[in-house]
Amino acid sequence: MTKLLVEPAMILTLDCDERLIERGHIVIEHGVIVAIGSGAYAGDVDRRIDASGMIATPGLVNAHTHSQSSTMAGFGDRLSHPAFMWLTQAHTARRTPAEAALVVKLCAWAMLTSGTTACIDHFPGQRCDFDDLHAVRDAWTESGVRATLALRFFDDSFADIAPPGITLPDDADRLLGPMALCDVRALAEAFASRPHRVPVWPAPSNPERCTQDALLWCAEHAARFDTGIHIHLAETAAQLRLAQERHGDSTVAHLHRIGALSDRWSCAHSVWLDDADIALMADSDALVVLNPESNARIGAGVAPIAKLRAAGVRLALGTDGAGANDNMSMQEAMRTAATLDRRGPRAGWAGSREALGWATTGGADAVRVPGLGRLAVGAPADLVLYRLDSPHWAPLNDPVAQLVFAETGASVDTVIVAGEVLLRGGRPTRFDPVELAAEARAMAARLRVRNADLFLLAERVAEVLP
Ligand SMILES: [Zn+2]
Repeated sequence: MTKLLVEPAMILTLDCDERLIERGHIVIEHGVIVAIGSGAYAGDVDRRIDASGMIATPGLVNAHTHSQSSTMAGFGDRLSHPAFMWLTQAHTARRTPAEAALVVKLCAWAMLTSGTTACIDHFPGQRCDFDDLHAVRDAWTESGVRATLALRFFDDSFADIAPPGITLPDDADRLLGPMALCDVRALAEAFASRPHRVPVWPAPSNPERCTQDALLWCAEHAARFDTGIHIHLAETAAQLRLAQERHGDSTVAHLHRIGALSDRWSCAHSVWLDDADIALMADSDALVVLNPESNARIGAGVAPIAKLRAAGVRLALGTDGAGANDNMSMQEAMRTAATLDRRGPRAGWAGSREALGWATTGGADAVRVPGLGRLAVGAPADLVLYRLDSPHWAPLNDPVAQLVFAETGASVDTVIVAGEVLLRGGRPTRFDPVELAAEARAMAARLRVRNADLFLLAERVAEVLP
């Protein structure tokens, strides 16, 4: 294994002492940081990365995205959640395993170029089988990004997005409908039984599309294989209404009552939570993944960020998929999350340091990788070098506030994950972006033809739903 030296860099460690090293070195071996400090490194190394004029920071963790939406940037402006969901089906259904893998690389490209080194990919958009899941897991492995695959499924009806009075295509149920729980179990157990760089977790699409048996199985499976559980939670008002109709209570109360809720759950969105839900989330130590830009883009609402913080609920941050948020910039997500809920007294507002924590150590909690999100000896070597000779950093006033409020990801020069250089000079090292873009264009054109019936359906849903 190569011993890699990164110097001379300004280093924002985010370690327990929150040290800022003005000019220093980072030494990496076997995928972890083995030395970090001021001045030049005196020992022998195999490779040196010139980091002059750059600031090194921990890589960002995108704790909720959907790789398969990565061809959808720019689509669906001013669509409500149900209409957006059907448009997503049109773009993402009937892909071959090779096409699903190609889209993973698009997603990885967008993340690496903006300084994200780890993610939770809520996959797929529809049913999937062993071949699909293998292809997507292999694609994440090849990308080098530290990914977790959250196996999205539902085993009950999708009443929260059912299009009223519209006949679905003949193969809709086979293609888009619920999966049998025994099939989901077989898939999840096959992938969880062997440790892998890309873990596979159970991930109900949202609990209102799942039976109680499925939710209890998630809890049992996660405890048995020591995984997390990832979900969309209370994203829309329709989902809250449905929960109250089905259980006479909220989704959080239902999960808690059946004994499923625990610290293994990472819950994307979490917009429609009341005070009792928030107290249960805090008591259970469940984690919320804020997705403020996605919520704003599709008009889902505003998560109660101030109340979640006040209750001590663990927070992480995600962009959501490109269909609901167009880009993978975690810097934009941090800025929005920090500034969105500043309604109360100023002393209670979230600041840039807290938001950066959501995207680093909060993300580490979400992906269940200890030590991620800081630059310290023994921590995983996931780091980003930003060019300081860019408009976002010149002049350098406050590295943390500028990373959160000024940066967009545009100054990212180098990205290292588990000690491997995946981006250098802004270009991916493991794949050719020009070739990838051409393949993605061709694939999107093929899907337009292959899924013409679903695009038509999405148009009709957008007409009939507000
Ligand atoms: Zn999502």
